[in-house]
Amino acid sequence: MPAPEAWAALERGDHAKAASIFREELDRSPRNAWLHFGAGYAALRLGRSDAAISSLKRAIEYNPRFVQAMVMLSQAAYQTADLDLAVRTLEKAAALAPGDRAIASQLEGWRVESALHERFDERAGVRFRVLFEGPAEKAISDRVAAVLESKYWSIGKTLNTYPGETLTVILYSNQQFQDITRAPAWAGGGYDGRIRLPVGGALRSPKSLDRVVTHELVHAIIRTAAPTGAPTWVNEGLASYLESADHTWVARVLRAADGRISLSDMANGFDRFDADTALVAYAESLVAGQLLCERLGPNVGTFLQMLGSGHTVDQALSTLNVPPETFYAEWRRRIGVK
Ligand SMILES: [Zn+2]
Repeated sequence: MPAPEAWAALERGDHAKAASIFREELDRSPRNAWLHFGAGYAALRLGRSDAAISSLKRAIEYNPRFVQAMVMLSQAAYQTADLDLAVRTLEKAAALAPGDRAIASQLEGWRVESALHERFDERAGVRFRVLFEGPAEKAISDRVAAVLESKYWSIGKTLNTYPGETLTVILYSNQQFQDITRAPAWAGGGYDGRIRLPVGGALRSPKSLDRVVTHELVHAIIRTAAPTGAPTWVNEGLASYLESADHTWVARVLRAADGRISLSDMANGFDRFDADTALVAYAESLVAGQLLCERLGPNVGTFLQMLGSGHTVDQALSTLNVPPETFYAEWRRRIGVK
């Protein structure tokens, strides 16, 4: 394989280094499919989906039987909410590798999702497109679109980040949401390149609809600033803090909870938590998110960008004149660690 030192860099997680080696090598051999594949892989790991898509398309152009590149291109396309490209590309891979179970089952899942979305109506806007099913969800889609438009500016200002590309928002019945996302039953919504919201009965409590929409929008905006690298407690902390002005539930949850969860246990997803534990994790994260906003002020956006470019939380805090130790000590004090 060409550029072994770039692959070694990918192996040890140094994606930026790998990307720069692949770029240099491509100057010398611009038609090498493996180099384009490597560049696409590195871009994907750096969270640059658009760059990944164009590199992987080129890899396939120079080697039309490049199944791995097709699989990766389909994943990158899915991440950017381009389900058509994801399905089309994976169909080509499946034709070349008919015995591959993983490809077949992924394709099956995406076809189900695609068939479901085909029935949906679309409310197209410049910054947002909202997909919803039937007239019953029309009123909800209007409300969701209005919340997104207004929050885009206020949250954008707080995080100093304004996503440029159109964000897709899909409104599901509660059952569709479970089927498509396989999210834990406690999840109120999800963001995976597009916002997915279960909206069965949503207008019965429009306040919580607004809250969930705002929460997922924060995730989308964070992803623009830091495509990778933000620990879950940063992500969920900011989303939970900024979703609404009412934070009274936090003290109630923390008072009732037996123990506390450490930040390191809240770095890699909450999906493994049961509903009660997840609630504590959200409460503790919200306290951290609030503290980040208070201490960093207008620098929250810069903080996120630093995480996105590979800095640790401690490095980013220090650079922005917030001593990490005092930050953590204050967080522990506020969540009530003795
Ligand atoms: Zn969240």
